[in-house]
Amino acid sequence: MNDSNFPTAAQVIVIGGGIVGTSVAYHLTKLGYTDVILLEQGQLSCGTTWHAAGLVGQLRSHVAMTDLIKYSTKLYSDLEAETGLATGWKNTGSLAVARSVDRMTVLKRTAASARAQGVDVDVISAKEAGDLWPLMETSDLQGAIWLPGDGKANPTDLTQSLAKGARNGGAKVIERVKVTDVIVKDGAVTGVKTDKGQIDAEIVVNCAGQWAREIGKMCGVSVPLHSAEHMYIVTGEIEGVHPDLPVMRDPDGYIYFKEEVGGLVMGGFEPEAKPWGMDGIPDKFEFSLLPDDWDQFEILMENAMIRVPKLAECEVKKFYNGPESFTPDNNFLLGEAPELKNFFVGAGFNSMGIASAGGAGKALAEWIVNGSATTDLWPVDIRRFANFNNNPSWLHDRIKETLGLHYAMPWPNRELDTARPFRRSPLFDRLKSKNACFGSKMGWERANWFANAGQKPEIEYKFGRQNWHDNVAKEHRAVRESVAVFDQTSFAKLLVQGRDAATILNTICAGDVDVEVGKSVYTAMLNTRGGFESDVTVMRIHREKFLLITGSAQAIHDADWIERNIPQDSHVTLTDVTSAWSVLSVMGPKSRDVLKQLSKSDFSNKAFPFATIQEIDVGYATVYANRMTYVGELGWELIVPTEFAAGVYDDVMKAGEEFGIIDAGYYALEGLRLEKGFRAWSRELHPDINPFEAGLGFAVSMDKPGGFIGRDALIEHRKNGAPRKRIVQLVLQDPDAQLWGGELVLRNGVAVGEVRSAAYGHTLNASVALVQMDHAEGVTKDFIESGDYEVDLAGELFKATAHIRTPYDPKSERPKME
Ligand SMILES: Cc1cc2nc3c(=O)[nH]c(=O)nc-3n(C[C@H](O)[C@H](O)[C@H](O)COP(=O)(O)OP(=O)(O)OC[C@H]3O[C@@H](n4cnc5c(N)ncnc54)[C@H](O)[C@@H]3O)c2cc1C
Repeated sequence: MNDSNFPTAAQVIVIGGGIVGTSVAYHLTKLGYTDVILLEQGQLSCGTTWHAAGLVGQLRSHVAMTDLIKYSTKLYSDLEAETGLATGWKNTGSLAVARSVDRMTVLKRTAASARAQGVDVDVISAKEAGDLWPLMETSDLQGAIWLPGDGKANPTDLTQSLAKGARNGGAKVIERVKVTDVIVKDGAVTGVKTDKGQIDAEIVVNCAGQWAREIGKMCGVSVPLHSAEHMYIVTGEIEGVHPDLPVMRDPDGYIYFKEEVGGLVMGGFEPEAKPWGMDGIPDKFEFSLLPDDWDQFEILMENAMIRVPKLAECEVKKFYNGPESFTPDNNFLLGEAPELKNFFVGAGFNSMGIASAGGAGKALAEWIVNGSATTDLWPVDIRRFANFNNNPSWLHDRIKETLGLHYAMPWPNRELDTARPFRRSPLFDRLKSKNACFGSKMGWERANWFANAGQKPEIEYKFGRQNWHDNVAKEHRAVRESVAVFDQTSFAKLLVQGRDAATILNTICAGDVDVEVGKSVYTAMLNTRGGFESDVTVMRIHREKFLLITGSAQAIHDADWIERNIPQDSHVTLTDVTSAWSVLSVMGPKSRDVLKQLSKSDFSNKAFPFATIQEIDVGYATVYANRMTYVGELGWELIVPTEFAAGVYDDVMKAGEEFGIIDAGYYALEGLRLEKGFRAWSRELHPDINPFEAGLGFAVSMDKPGGFIGRDALIEHRKNGAPRKRIVQLVLQDPDAQLWGGELVLRNGVAVGEVRSAAYGHTLNASVALVQMDHAEGVTKDFIESGDYEVDLAGELFKATAHIRTPYDPKSERPKME
């Protein structure tokens, strides 16, 4: 193309001609967006895509993510028929083998969750695994699982085939054009500058792989990813290796194998990765590799020789060391950037880009065309990160651990160890000195539980009861029987204010929040499908000021959702005030007695009823006290200016001494809320479930004046009879069994759903779970109550009782979930 033919405008520009960019362009054209230009600085697939091993495994821990890859496999098998260009897709199936008993437990849990997610799977013996993969040493194996739907593809061919499909649909794919800047006007993207000229555009999509962070920096968008070296070898031909040989993974050895031209590809995910590109990613890195690093590869090679002894005799034809971008939590980054309107990101694929690209490209294209995600994409939503996650030193240290997570033991409640502590509450040192064991959420260090004197505040991971069980029991009982304090400073806090704040918030929230000053309303923010975008507490602290408290991980997401729905000419502003306030939750039947010692305020039911907020004095501090609870007991959330938090905490602990006050952590909170059946965002509540299905009808005000976003969908839903899905509480009958979440639930022997959250309920003396039950003919009261339930715990079935209303304490501090 000569310069005079160079385009000057397009509806959509996609930056990056790897597998992800071409998939986005392809799917945009399928959705009727034909004025699309894809720009690639080198040649198609020349970045990371060309040297991928091409494994496509369908199963992920989140059902929506599994669905994306299931779609990829279908697309990759059908694409050649459409475009005439082969994709190299081969449905070989895949095996995962277990060396240890714990790993076998993982595989059995995986098999159960595969069944819950509709993925074909079989648990097989070591011998059967050996029959499928005769070159493998099996004498040390406990067993394996077999996933017949998995396979492999050729990444370069796939990219070419997607590009052809995109061109056929009207898109222009232009190679050898480098984007040098992103043009922004009035908070929205308006085009790009390139080394060949400027192109105006309504929408720009950043699919620049490991360069995506730099592209983001051109326009103030955080794309938190960092490159790491990633390696595999290709051997010469080996007798017995044939194109239909399944993909084989041996996670205890950190390795995988697949066939390639009669030999084996062997690569893996070593526990400590080697970050790369600290001084920036070179522009000229076309079809390039990094130097071989046998030292870094040694741990993989040693393990590979144990699994496939024949490797010792064969020739290594090629060592591939290519950089790939990794993110802080091992999930990719998708969606419209909260910082810049009409600027989308699809990057950071954590060595899953080939498997994910089909589904991720479709999901991103739908997001662009519809203006919002069309399904639950929270695990990969770019809004789960904030600008502080883009800190290069932090990213560098974190991704050393991220790469290895692929094959690390997925222990229940496993915490990441690197790049911590990151965000600290003002009480961090105090809680640390009291033996807190910290976990991390949205970067915050949060006390999960408190160790006894002489006990190490460390988790001993296992699938049964862990070492903190009794510590948490004590915290749990204190909340139910006397009083405890939770440091909930990590809550996200948003201040929405202005003359129109009440009116606008009332259209964004499904409940009626246009209430008297001093009222707190627990409600939902819904999308147009009626699904949850968030659940929040809205506190009216002034006629024109509302303080919103939402989950720690939701600050960016919720702020973005609200700002998007504020009409341009209205008088409303939103400020994230998370760092300005700490939250100390004083919970339990003695909480009133404790606070009375410290404050002149009246805490009686009459003067301070449930779901109200008042500004009160606590010691020398002036704080907001919100009478609300997530544990189902009497209690107040003290919302304290950060600089007063330490003083208030000390005062509360001193005043509480005579009532036996103790510190409690997030593990106790989880058990307490699950006993009460309280739902949590991103677990039970997600964009594909509405308040009636979730049992939160009380949080919706269908008839309030002016309506609200999602109301039409809820009206339609009500016309359709019984909900097809519903959140139901299950209590295990065996008091010793431990649930963690993700387990398969059977009703009368047939799969009916998956455990969304679970914990031990120390008041009920059993594991308690919230389950999403799905049933096409409707999940009626009769359907729930007439079933016999079992939970599949790593292959063993445990009987459970289903409850629509919680079996614990009918005198709830919050309206009942029905
Ligand atoms: C050794 C190795 C093995 C792997 N094995 C597998 C596997 O088995 N299965 C799997 O699913 N995944 C695997 N992966 C991961 C997979 O390769 C990546 O996730 C995927 O290729 C990422 O695709 P992408 O389109 O995001 O990035 P890329 O392929 O890097 O594409 C981004 C493109 O953007 C272009 N670009 C950058 N900046 C600009 C600019 N300013 N202007 C214009 N263009 C620009 C680049 O040139 C590049 O071509 C592997 C990766 C490695 C390194």
